This record gives sequence, structure tokens and C-alpha cells, in this order.
Amino acid sequence: MSTQERRAAAAERILSAGPTEVPDVDGRIAELNEVRGDGRNMDAPAPSPPVDWLQRLWTPYRMAYIKGEPGSGRDQGEGCPLCRIPTLDDVAGLIVARGEHAYAVLNLHPYNPGHLMIVTYRHVPDLEDLTGAELTELSAMTRDAVQALKSASQPHGFNVGINLGGVAGGSLSDHLHQHVVPRWNGDANFMMVLSQTKVMPQLLADTRELLASTWPSRD
Ligand SMILES: [Zn+2]
Repeated sequence: MSTQERRAAAAERILSAGPTEVPDVDGRIAELNEVRGDGRNMDAPAPSPPVDWLQRLWTPYRMAYIKGEPGSGRDQGEGCPLCRIPTLDDVAGLIVARGEHAYAVLNLHPYNPGHLMIVTYRHVPDLEDLTGAELTELSAMTRDAVQALKSASQPHGFNVGINLGGVAGGSLSDHLHQHVVPRWNGDANFMMVLSQTKVMPQLLADTRELLASTWPSRD
């Protein structure tokens, strides 16, 4: 069987697995290494740490971000992306809702479809920097984000939180933002990771439109 045929067969096996199936981790890693398609000798021992294949799987999608290329959100020459986004229109900025002190925007590098961030307009890093009005609206928009996501896609749960400081995982830690990540049973398996990688760029615009339509009105 040629390398290309082996890749196709491995991809077929992975993609035909059910989304709620408990993953066979070692088997899946071996299969993913087979389909990684980076020109390596496919007969060589496959690298085993899951981190390795995740990086390769995401490379085409994330490389501009990692390298800090213009427009990638990490180009310091363009200033802070979370300050720049509200200057764009909603569609271009992937903005779902705007408040008086904060806005809700889709994460460009989502952990799940519908991964939102609630961001203050002011460029401040810490919770203690927020005024009472900003803190109140950050919480209110977090509530609205959860409600909009429930209406749009019936998640089974959510992760909600703020990474304070780079050491805590905050890649834009100079500008406070709260993550709202919808979760579904079985969403962390390999089927979901592969599906996201294939369809995410198109989904972002559709997801923004859907969540803007389900965002609660509180007039
Ligand atoms: Zn900023």
C-alpha cells in the first residue's frame, strides 16, 4: 500500500469513528501520525506524545499566530488586537454583541465552536483595574453569552474564566478578557479535533451570525 493510500485509509478510520466513542489514545496517535503528511519517512517510529501531533495538526491554522505575522493578532506593531477589534465592524471583527463598557467576540483560535470572549474596551490587565460598572457589565455579558450559546447550540456545559498573567495561559494577558467555552459530552476526542480543523474557518462567520441573533435583548 502506498503512503498516500495508507494516509487515506487511516483518515477514513478516524473520521468514521463516532463522536461519543471513548478514544483509543495510543491507536489514534499512531493513526494521526500516519496521516500527518509532513513528508517524513512513514516507516520511522512515530513520535508518541499527544502534544506532538496536536502541534502538527494545528500548524497550518496557527502558524501565522505563532510567528506574529501582520493581522495575526500577535503583531505588536499593530498594537493590541483586543483594542483594535472594536474599531472594526461586527462581521469583520467577529463581534457578537457590544455593551457600554465591554464587547463579546468570537475567539479566532477556538477550543470549541462558539468559543467567545467578553472583553473590556479599556486596555487593563487585572481585575482590580476594573471599575464597578465594567465589572458589572463583564458579568452581565458573560451571563448573556451563556444564554445565547444555550439558545444556539444546547451545550451540555461551559468553561468560564479569565487567565490572569501569561504564566496562567493568557496569550493577550495585558488586556483583560473572560473566556466562555461551550462544552459537549465527548467534545474532547479526536474526531472533534479533526472536524474543527477542517471546518472552523468557514464556521466562524456563521457562528458569529447565529450568536448575534440569539444574544438576549435586555431593553
Ligand atoms: Zn488592548
